[in-house]
Amino acid sequence: MRVIRARAMGFCFGVRDALAAAEQVTHPPQTAIYGELVHNEQVRDRLANRGFISSSEENRSIPATVTQVMVTAHGVSDRVRHQLVSSGLTIIDTTCPLVRRVHAAAQRLAAEDRHVIVIGQPGHVEVRGIIEDLSSWSVWATVADVEATRFSHIGVIAQSTTRPDVAAEVLAQIHRLHPHADIAWVDTICQPTRDRQEALEELLAKATVLVVVGGKRSNNSRSLLQRALDRGKRAHFIQTAEEIDIGWFESPDVVGLTAGTSTPDDIIEAVAARLDALAVLLSGDDACPS
Ligand code: SF4
Repeated sequence: MRVIRARAMGFCFGVRDALAAAEQVTHPPQTAIYGELVHNEQVRDRLANRGFISSSEENRSIPATVTQVMVTAHGVSDRVRHQLVSSGLTIIDTTCPLVRRVHAAAQRLAAEDRHVIVIGQPGHVEVRGIIEDLSSWSVWATVADVEATRFSHIGVIAQSTTRPDVAAEVLAQIHRLHPHADIAWVDTICQPTRDRQEALEELLAKATVLVVVGGKRSNNSRSLLQRALDRGKRAHFIQTAEEIDIGWFESPDVVGLTAGTSTPDDIIEAVAARLDALAVLLSGDDACPS
Protein backbone atom coordinates (compact mmCIF):
# COMPACT_ATOMS: atom_id res chain seq x y z
CA MET A 1 0.00 0.00 0.00
CA ARG A 2 1.20 3.49 -0.91
CA VAL A 3 -0.24 6.86 0.13
CA ILE A 4 -0.25 9.90 -2.15
CA ARG A 5 -1.54 13.34 -1.22
CA ALA A 6 -3.47 15.81 -3.33
CA ARG A 7 -1.22 18.74 -4.28
CA ALA A 8 -3.95 21.14 -3.07
CA MET A 9 -6.16 20.34 -0.10
CA GLY A 10 -7.33 21.63 3.26
CA PHE A 11 -7.88 25.20 4.42
CA CYS A 12 -8.36 27.80 1.71
CA PHE A 13 -7.19 31.38 2.34
CA GLY A 14 -10.79 32.47 3.12
CA VAL A 15 -11.04 30.01 6.00
CA ARG A 16 -7.48 30.73 7.22
CA ASP A 17 -8.24 34.47 7.31
CA ALA A 18 -11.52 33.91 9.20
CA LEU A 19 -9.77 31.76 11.81
CA ALA A 20 -6.94 34.30 12.10
CA ALA A 21 -9.57 36.98 12.78
CA ALA A 22 -11.09 34.75 15.49
CA GLU A 23 -7.64 34.40 17.06
CA GLN A 24 -7.46 38.20 17.39
CA VAL A 25 -10.74 38.44 19.31
CA THR A 26 -9.92 39.43 22.91
CA HIS A 27 -13.33 38.73 24.52
CA PRO A 28 -14.75 35.55 22.94
CA PRO A 29 -17.61 35.19 25.50
CA GLN A 30 -19.01 38.52 24.27
CA THR A 31 -18.71 37.44 20.65
CA ALA A 32 -21.28 35.44 18.74
CA ILE A 33 -20.34 33.58 15.58
CA TYR A 34 -23.19 34.02 13.15
CA GLY A 35 -23.63 30.43 11.94
CA GLU A 36 -20.58 28.15 11.69
CA LEU A 37 -17.23 29.84 11.13
CA VAL A 38 -16.02 26.64 9.50
CA HIS A 39 -18.03 23.55 8.59
CA ASN A 40 -15.86 21.37 10.77
CA GLU A 41 -16.84 19.99 14.16
CA GLN A 42 -13.32 19.92 15.59
CA VAL A 43 -12.77 23.61 14.78
CA ARG A 44 -16.19 24.47 16.16
CA ASP A 45 -15.33 22.69 19.44
CA ARG A 46 -12.03 24.58 19.68
CA LEU A 47 -13.83 27.91 19.25
CA ALA A 48 -16.43 26.92 21.85
CA ASN A 49 -13.62 26.04 24.27
CA ARG A 50 -12.29 29.59 23.90
CA GLY A 51 -15.72 30.85 24.92
CA PHE A 52 -17.21 31.94 21.58
CA ILE A 53 -21.01 31.83 21.40
CA SER A 54 -21.95 29.85 18.31
CA SER A 55 -25.37 29.75 16.77
CA SER A 56 -26.49 27.04 14.40
CA GLU A 57 -27.03 27.89 10.74
CA GLU A 58 -30.69 27.04 11.08
CA ASN A 59 -31.21 29.22 14.17
CA ARG A 60 -28.84 32.18 14.23
CA SER A 61 -30.40 33.95 17.22
CA ILE A 62 -27.95 36.01 19.28
CA PRO A 63 -28.03 36.12 23.09
CA ALA A 64 -28.53 39.54 24.72
CA THR A 65 -25.17 39.30 26.54
CA VAL A 66 -23.24 39.53 23.27
CA THR A 67 -21.77 42.83 22.04
CA GLN A 68 -20.17 41.78 18.80
CA VAL A 69 -20.90 39.30 16.06
CA MET A 70 -18.58 37.54 13.63
CA VAL A 71 -19.90 37.16 10.10
CA THR A 72 -18.32 34.01 8.68
CA ALA A 73 -16.39 33.55 5.42
CA HIS A 74 -19.69 32.39 3.85
CA GLY A 75 -21.04 35.96 4.14
CA VAL A 76 -24.54 37.25 4.87
CA SER A 77 -27.07 39.28 2.94
CA ASP A 78 -27.11 43.09 3.24
CA ARG A 79 -30.53 42.66 4.81
CA VAL A 80 -29.10 40.58 7.68
CA ARG A 81 -26.08 42.88 7.99
CA HIS A 82 -28.39 45.87 8.52
CA GLN A 83 -30.43 43.94 11.09
CA LEU A 84 -27.28 43.12 13.07
CA VAL A 85 -26.02 46.71 12.98
CA SER A 86 -29.38 48.14 13.95
CA SER A 87 -29.44 45.76 16.96
CA GLY A 88 -26.39 47.66 18.22
CA LEU A 89 -23.89 44.87 17.51
CA THR A 90 -20.35 45.49 16.26
CA ILE A 91 -19.64 43.35 13.23
CA ILE A 92 -16.36 41.49 12.76
CA ASP A 93 -16.67 40.70 9.09
CA THR A 94 -14.71 37.71 7.78
CA THR A 95 -16.68 37.34 4.54
CA CYS A 96 -14.31 35.85 1.96
CA PRO A 97 -13.53 38.32 -0.84
CA LEU A 98 -14.47 35.59 -3.32
CA VAL A 99 -17.92 35.30 -1.74
CA ARG A 100 -18.27 39.08 -2.00
CA ARG A 101 -17.57 38.64 -5.70
CA VAL A 102 -20.55 36.25 -5.97
CA HIS A 103 -22.81 38.80 -4.21
CA ALA A 104 -21.58 41.56 -6.52
CA ALA A 105 -22.26 39.43 -9.61
CA ALA A 106 -25.78 38.62 -8.38
CA GLN A 107 -26.53 42.29 -7.75
CA ARG A 108 -25.15 43.31 -11.16
CA LEU A 109 -27.34 40.74 -12.93
CA ALA A 110 -30.39 41.78 -10.89
CA ALA A 111 -29.71 45.43 -11.77
CA GLU A 112 -29.88 44.36 -15.44
CA ASP A 113 -33.40 43.13 -14.65
CA ARG A 114 -32.50 39.48 -14.95
CA HIS A 115 -33.96 36.53 -13.06
CA VAL A 116 -30.93 35.28 -11.13
CA ILE A 117 -30.23 31.56 -11.05
CA VAL A 118 -27.72 30.32 -8.49
CA ILE A 119 -26.14 26.97 -9.26
CA GLY A 120 -25.63 25.63 -5.74
CA GLN A 121 -27.18 23.92 -2.76
CA PRO A 122 -30.57 25.29 -1.68
CA GLY A 123 -30.35 26.19 2.00
CA HIS A 124 -26.55 26.47 2.04
CA VAL A 125 -25.54 29.49 4.12
CA GLU A 126 -23.61 31.15 1.26
CA VAL A 127 -26.54 30.72 -1.10
CA ARG A 128 -28.99 32.09 1.48
CA GLY A 129 -26.82 35.18 1.87
CA ILE A 130 -26.96 35.76 -1.88
CA ILE A 131 -30.66 35.23 -2.52
CA GLU A 132 -31.91 37.16 0.52
CA ASP A 133 -30.99 40.38 -1.30
CA LEU A 134 -32.71 39.36 -4.56
CA SER A 135 -36.34 39.62 -5.59
CA SER A 136 -36.31 37.13 -8.47
CA TRP A 137 -34.20 34.00 -8.11
CA SER A 138 -33.98 30.21 -8.41
CA VAL A 139 -31.44 27.84 -6.85
CA TRP A 140 -30.63 24.64 -8.67
CA ALA A 141 -28.02 22.09 -7.60
CA THR A 142 -28.18 19.52 -10.40
CA VAL A 143 -29.38 19.07 -13.96
CA ALA A 144 -32.49 17.29 -12.64
CA ASP A 145 -33.48 20.44 -10.70
CA VAL A 146 -33.54 22.74 -13.72
CA GLU A 147 -37.01 23.90 -14.77
CA ALA A 148 -38.29 25.85 -17.74
CA THR A 149 -39.29 29.32 -16.51
CA ARG A 150 -41.18 32.25 -18.04
CA PHE A 151 -38.12 34.53 -17.83
CA SER A 152 -36.55 35.88 -21.01
CA HIS A 153 -33.66 37.65 -19.24
CA ILE A 154 -31.66 35.35 -17.03
CA GLY A 155 -28.40 35.70 -15.14
CA VAL A 156 -26.56 32.62 -13.88
CA ILE A 157 -23.95 32.45 -11.15
CA ALA A 158 -22.57 29.61 -9.04
CA GLN A 159 -22.06 29.08 -5.33
CA SER A 160 -18.29 29.54 -4.91
CA THR A 161 -17.67 25.87 -4.05
CA THR A 162 -19.64 24.31 -6.91
CA ARG A 163 -17.89 21.59 -8.86
CA PRO A 164 -17.00 23.14 -12.25
CA ASP A 165 -18.24 20.10 -14.20
CA VAL A 166 -21.60 20.20 -12.38
CA ALA A 167 -21.94 23.94 -13.06
CA ALA A 168 -21.24 23.35 -16.76
CA GLU A 169 -23.93 20.63 -16.95
CA VAL A 170 -26.54 22.74 -15.16
CA LEU A 171 -25.75 25.78 -17.31
CA ALA A 172 -26.14 23.68 -20.48
CA GLN A 173 -29.53 22.44 -19.24
CA ILE A 174 -30.64 26.02 -18.49
CA HIS A 175 -29.79 26.92 -22.09
CA ARG A 176 -31.65 23.83 -23.38
CA LEU A 177 -34.81 24.71 -21.44
CA HIS A 178 -34.66 28.44 -22.32
CA PRO A 179 -33.74 28.39 -26.01
CA HIS A 180 -34.99 31.93 -26.64
CA ALA A 181 -33.81 33.63 -23.47
CA ASP A 182 -30.97 36.12 -23.13
CA ILE A 183 -28.73 34.28 -20.66
CA ALA A 184 -25.70 35.88 -18.99
CA TRP A 185 -23.30 33.56 -17.14
CA VAL A 186 -20.82 34.83 -14.57
CA ASP A 187 -18.40 32.16 -13.42
CA THR A 188 -18.13 32.70 -9.67
CA ILE A 189 -16.54 29.38 -8.68
CA CYS A 190 -13.55 30.26 -6.52
CA GLN A 191 -9.96 29.43 -7.49
CA PRO A 192 -9.20 27.37 -4.35
CA THR A 193 -12.20 25.15 -5.20
CA ARG A 194 -10.91 24.78 -8.77
CA ASP A 195 -7.41 23.98 -7.52
CA ARG A 196 -8.74 21.28 -5.21
CA GLN A 197 -10.93 19.79 -7.94
CA GLU A 198 -8.01 19.71 -10.41
CA ALA A 199 -5.77 18.17 -7.77
CA LEU A 200 -8.48 15.58 -7.15
CA GLU A 201 -8.60 14.62 -10.84
CA GLU A 202 -4.81 14.09 -10.78
CA LEU A 203 -5.17 12.00 -7.65
CA LEU A 204 -8.01 9.89 -9.10
CA ALA A 205 -5.86 9.09 -12.13
CA LYS A 206 -3.37 7.35 -9.82
CA ALA A 207 -5.29 6.19 -6.74
CA THR A 208 -7.23 2.96 -6.34
CA VAL A 209 -9.03 4.20 -3.22
CA LEU A 210 -9.65 7.72 -1.94
CA VAL A 211 -9.86 9.08 1.59
CA VAL A 212 -11.57 12.47 1.97
CA VAL A 213 -11.17 14.31 5.27
CA GLY A 214 -13.80 16.91 6.07
CA GLY A 215 -16.67 18.10 8.20
CA LYS A 216 -20.05 16.37 7.81
CA ARG A 217 -21.64 19.67 6.76
CA SER A 218 -18.87 20.73 4.40
CA ASN A 219 -20.29 21.07 0.90
CA ASN A 220 -16.93 21.08 -0.86
CA SER A 221 -15.67 18.03 1.10
CA ARG A 222 -18.82 16.09 0.15
CA SER A 223 -18.39 17.05 -3.48
CA LEU A 224 -14.81 15.67 -3.47
CA LEU A 225 -16.25 12.36 -2.25
CA GLN A 226 -19.06 12.41 -4.79
CA ARG A 227 -16.64 13.01 -7.66
CA ALA A 228 -14.60 9.98 -6.63
CA LEU A 229 -17.75 7.83 -6.41
CA ASP A 230 -18.92 9.14 -9.81
CA ARG A 231 -15.59 7.96 -11.21
CA GLY A 232 -16.28 4.49 -9.82
CA LYS A 233 -13.57 4.67 -7.15
CA ARG A 234 -13.74 3.21 -3.68
CA ALA A 235 -13.90 6.25 -1.44
CA HIS A 236 -14.26 6.95 2.27
CA PHE A 237 -15.32 10.13 4.04
CA ILE A 238 -13.88 10.71 7.51
CA GLN A 239 -13.71 13.54 10.02
CA THR A 240 -10.74 12.29 12.04
CA ALA A 241 -7.93 9.72 11.83
CA GLU A 242 -9.69 7.52 14.40
CA GLU A 243 -12.39 6.66 11.86
CA ILE A 244 -9.96 4.93 9.49
CA ASP A 245 -10.57 1.19 9.17
CA ILE A 246 -7.70 -1.05 8.06
CA GLY A 247 -10.27 -3.28 6.36
CA TRP A 248 -10.75 -0.60 3.68
CA PHE A 249 -7.30 -1.25 2.20
CA GLU A 250 -5.36 -4.02 0.56
CA SER A 251 -1.64 -4.36 0.12
CA PRO A 252 -1.51 -3.27 -3.57
CA ASP A 253 -3.68 -0.17 -3.00
CA VAL A 254 -2.60 3.34 -3.89
CA VAL A 255 -4.48 5.51 -1.38
CA GLY A 256 -5.24 9.08 -2.44
CA LEU A 257 -5.62 11.57 0.41
CA THR A 258 -7.53 14.83 0.05
CA ALA A 259 -9.45 17.21 2.32
CA GLY A 260 -12.07 19.94 2.05
CA THR A 261 -11.35 23.64 2.46
CA SER A 262 -12.56 23.59 6.08
CA THR A 263 -10.26 20.81 7.31
CA PRO A 264 -7.49 21.88 9.72
CA ASP A 265 -3.86 21.01 8.90
CA ASP A 266 -3.32 19.03 12.12
CA ILE A 267 -6.28 16.73 11.34
CA ILE A 268 -4.96 16.12 7.80
CA GLU A 269 -1.50 15.36 9.21
CA ALA A 270 -2.96 12.92 11.76
CA VAL A 271 -4.84 11.11 8.97
CA ALA A 272 -1.71 11.03 6.77
CA ALA A 273 0.34 9.59 9.66
CA ARG A 274 -2.25 6.87 10.30
CA LEU A 275 -2.41 5.95 6.61
CA ASP A 276 1.40 5.84 6.41
CA ALA A 277 1.47 3.54 9.43
CA LEU A 278 -1.11 1.26 7.81
CA ALA A 279 0.95 1.25 4.60
CA VAL A 280 3.96 -0.02 6.56
CA LEU A 281 1.80 -2.61 8.31
CA LEU A 282 0.25 -3.91 5.07
CA SER A 283 3.62 -3.97 3.30
CA GLY A 284 4.95 -5.92 6.27
CA ASP A 285 2.15 -8.47 5.76
CA ASP A 286 3.39 -8.90 2.18
CA ALA A 287 6.97 -9.45 3.30
CA CYS A 288 6.00 -11.97 5.95
CA PRO A 289 7.24 -15.43 4.89
CA SER A 290 4.42 -17.15 6.77
S1 SF4 B 1 -13.98 28.07 -0.49
FE1 SF4 B 1 -13.47 29.79 -1.85
S2 SF4 B 1 -15.07 31.29 -1.51
FE2 SF4 B 1 -15.19 29.84 0.20
S3 SF4 B 1 -13.93 30.76 1.79
FE3 SF4 B 1 -12.58 29.41 0.62
S4 SF4 B 1 -11.65 30.74 -0.95
FE4 SF4 B 1 -13.42 31.80 -0.11
